[in-house]
Amino acid sequence: MKVLVVGLGIAGPTLAFWLRRAGHEVVLVEQAPAPRRGGHLVDFWGAGFDVAGRMGIVPELRRRGHRFTEARGVTSRGRRFASFTPSALLRSDDRYVSIARSELAATIYEALEGRVETVFGDTVAALADDGDRVHVTFASGRRDEVDLVVGADGLHSAVRRLAFGPQQRFEDHLGIVVSAFEVRGYRPRNDLVAMMYAEVGFQLVRLSLPDDVTMFLITLRHEGELPGGDVHAQQGLLRDRLAGRGWETAAALEAMSSADSFYIDRVSQIRMPAWSHGRIGLVGDAAACPSLLAGQGSALAMVEAYTLATELARCDGDHGAAFERYETRLAPFVRAKQDAARGLGLAFAPRNRTQLVVRNATMSLMGLPGVADRVMRRSFHDTVELPESATSGSAL
Ligand SMILES: Cc1cc2nc3c(=O)[nH]c(=O)nc-3n(C[C@H](O)[C@H](O)[C@H](O)COP(=O)(O)OP(=O)(O)OC[C@H]3O[C@@H](n4cnc5c(N)ncnc54)[C@H](O)[C@@H]3O)c2cc1C
Repeated sequence: MKVLVVGLGIAGPTLAFWLRRAGHEVVLVEQAPAPRRGGHLVDFWGAGFDVAGRMGIVPELRRRGHRFTEARGVTSRGRRFASFTPSALLRSDDRYVSIARSELAATIYEALEGRVETVFGDTVAALADDGDRVHVTFASGRRDEVDLVVGADGLHSAVRRLAFGPQQRFEDHLGIVVSAFEVRGYRPRNDLVAMMYAEVGFQLVRLSLPDDVTMFLITLRHEGELPGGDVHAQQGLLRDRLAGRGWETAAALEAMSSADSFYIDRVSQIRMPAWSHGRIGLVGDAAACPSLLAGQGSALAMVEAYTLATELARCDGDHGAAFERYETRLAPFVRAKQDAARGLGLAFAPRNRTQLVVRNATMSLMGLPGVADRVMRRSFHDTVELPESATSGSAL
């Protein structure tokens, strides 16, 4: 089969890897002009780590990633009130790495070793499924015909919009926005410690990375729209809302003006009644974004891509049955992750004083044996079983 995969994030190249291995012809299209660099960090672990293991990329992920030694809750004066190790929280000592989302994407893409046709700087503008083929018109004007199209183009998926309807029908905004930005030379530093500070309505996290890079992550209660595309207006919103807040908030906002990279978006989940329609399917955040509150979107994206490719490899030309089995296998598991994640908003941006007190009290107990496990079991622990790969051997 010829499969067009839209989006070169986490799910897209994973799907391309396994489809290619099963002997399918794959074309990857990415709207960015080149593979992205920098951007926010993801904690990568769980069943996604098992998929990475089967792809042989774990050593490279470890080389490019980091291992945080401590997550530390601090007061407005920077005094430590909570401390625990992230790997204990994830119940995963050696199957965990923190890595830039773009580095995870690049590592997966590099595993394809150039054997998949990739088009950068383009996207899909129209999709027409006639039952036998999908006729694709690209934004560049180019046209193609393929057997299947899979949207792996993230939270704001164009494939979903074109094939299933407008984003508003499927997006559940959780009333929080997230911003991540990287600066150089920021002081103070606490190497490989996640420093976490919260007040009612927001949380600020400072991550001191190698090469004198500091990453800030802000999660803020905000129900309204974000000023689209205008970085000055977006940064202005953060400055206005966080003026006068404690700990290093003022210094972080000051550093934001000279950030090397700046990201801001709504924290949302995507809930679709179905992950495919005819010859068009969705995977990763495009299909079922769990939001950053789940702490596992990249791992789920890899599990979904691997499972879809495995079902397509086994389907003997019946793509409809493969799409159905892919969704039946994973949708209940992913929905449970989404449901559990919704309850974690208070950790990222407490709504009120009571939630702030609960957050801080929970964090301060997290270092005690067994507590992290009990508190986070529903959200962070995986029960999904990966299907055996339908292809053997290690050659692409
Ligand atoms: C701040 C933050 C922190 C997070 N922390 C974690 C964490 O700790 N652990 C974790 O596992 N997950 C985390 N996540 C979630 C994780 O980043 C996502 O779930 C994951 O990246 C989803 O992968 P994906 O491939 O589906 O989509 P993406 O990684 O978003 O990739 C989509 C790709 O499609 C491209 N694209 C978009 N539109 C188009 C188009 N129209 N045409 C062509 N290409 C297009 C994009 O440029 C991008 O390359 C976090 C997310 C955020 C925002």
